Amino acid sequence: MKTKPVFREPSSRFIKVRCSKCKNEQIIFGKPAVTINCLVCNKTIAESTGGKGNIKARVLEVLE
Ligand SMILES: [Zn+2]
Repeated sequence: MKTKPVFREPSSRFIKVRCSKCKNEQIIFGKPAVTINCLVCNKTIAESTGGKGNIKARVLEVLE
């Protein structure tokens, strides 16, 4: 069983994520109203799920 770093739940903050496909780093809103795609390879990074965003990329940092 792998240990994962524990991040606080990104709610209404900006978060820095890294695309799992092309490793592009991008700052997005942690609670997106629309689906956000990677600017480089167009992979879906975050989906809006009606209130709580579903982050599909690796969260590197939560920005206060
Ligand atoms: Zn990408």
